[in-house]
Amino acid sequence: MEQVQRGFVELYGTEPEGVWSAPGRVNLIGEHTDYNDGFVMPFALPHTAVAAVSRRADGVLRLHSADVEGGVVELRLDDLAPESDRNWTAYPAGVVWALREAGHPVTGADVHLASTVPSGAGLSSSAALEVVIALALNDLYELGLPRWQLARLCQRAENVYVGAPTGIMDQTASACCEEGHALFLDTRDLSQKQIPFDLAAEGMRLLVVDTRVKHAHSDGEYGKRRAGCERGAALLGVDALRDVPYDGLDDALARLGDDEEAVRLVRHVVTEDERVEKTVALLESGETRAIGPVLVAGHASLRDDFRISCPELDLVVDTALASGALGARMTGGGFGGSAIVLAEAADVDTITKAVEEAFAAGGYTAPRVFEAVPAAGARRLS
Ligand code: ADP
Ligand code: MG
Repeated sequence: MEQVQRGFVELYGTEPEGVWSAPGRVNLIGEHTDYNDGFVMPFALPHTAVAAVSRRADGVLRLHSADVEGGVVELRLDDLAPESDRNWTAYPAGVVWALREAGHPVTGADVHLASTVPSGAGLSSSAALEVVIALALNDLYELGLPRWQLARLCQRAENVYVGAPTGIMDQTASACCEEGHALFLDTRDLSQKQIPFDLAAEGMRLLVVDTRVKHAHSDGEYGKRRAGCERGAALLGVDALRDVPYDGLDDALARLGDDEEAVRLVRHVVTEDERVEKTVALLESGETRAIGPVLVAGHASLRDDFRISCPELDLVVDTALASGALGARMTGGGFGGSAIVLAEAADVDTITKAVEEAFAAGGYTAPRVFEAVPAAGARRLS
């Protein structure tokens, strides 16, 4: 925080009005359900985007990231337009654009930020960036917007301004998660429930394995899956796949007949929603270890039905399970990014070593492995 504050002073010559942080996230279960009005269950990482921000009255937005080469980028608020910016600045500028478009009186800002959320690793560095700006402007301009609404505006910034078709999970996780909890979120009405998730107290750990394979979110595959899910819902005559009940899945699949693509996508989404509800039930009844097989089933569904895994992600999951993990699955949008591994604390070293060795043997770039402890959501630091 001090570093970001100092950086601001060096750049702009005055103290910032405040400093805010917003975390990246890991999704425990509930993948590709958030644009199907379904359930997700992310928790916040200790990795955060930190931004020092001051207001301006002259319609100018100045942006700087300590993590990107180059100087301060200066934009005029009146010039902000969807998909006009292909650089990192589109994320914070998009938030300002979304706030103003919704009628909020934002008249400019100076921003300096830095982030410890690995970028492009499926851990939502983009949402952290959006949410930290949204919260800062909400506080400074006294907009009084609730967290869920800030998340909505950030999603709009990413969907419309950046041009990346993401669901509502990432921004809500960054804005609303609480330390020591996973967030059970119904993406239809945005109702939330904080589920205590303290693995350390039960002798377990959750590892994140960043495969270092770069996913390309705004690229075609995500959009194709999304369009495919919408097509499936239309074929079944429902508003969203959320509306296909789990106990009616066989009927629904029969109605899709030999439309193999629709069958696969619908089966993943409907069973994944069921896995989220099962995970919540298990955690609430204290059967934490029993979520392991649910995570594994989720991975198989993403790999075989949704087809968004990749060899590196499968290798993490297979190796971890063969080395004694309780559960493992890919997390995030897919095609690279990160996997999570649930393990007994005593097995962490063995599993980590096995995964690293398997990557070396496969000729892959060494993965980055770290332990994830559910951390706080976005907040003001000073
Ligand atoms: P993810 O959200 O999974 O990390 P995305 O592709 O959605 O991946 O977002 C990554 C993008 O967010 C980067 O390409 C960059 O434009 C922006 N970004 C992330 N972290 C930073 C940072 N510290 N400074 C500037 N831009 C960042
Ligand atoms: Mg992202």
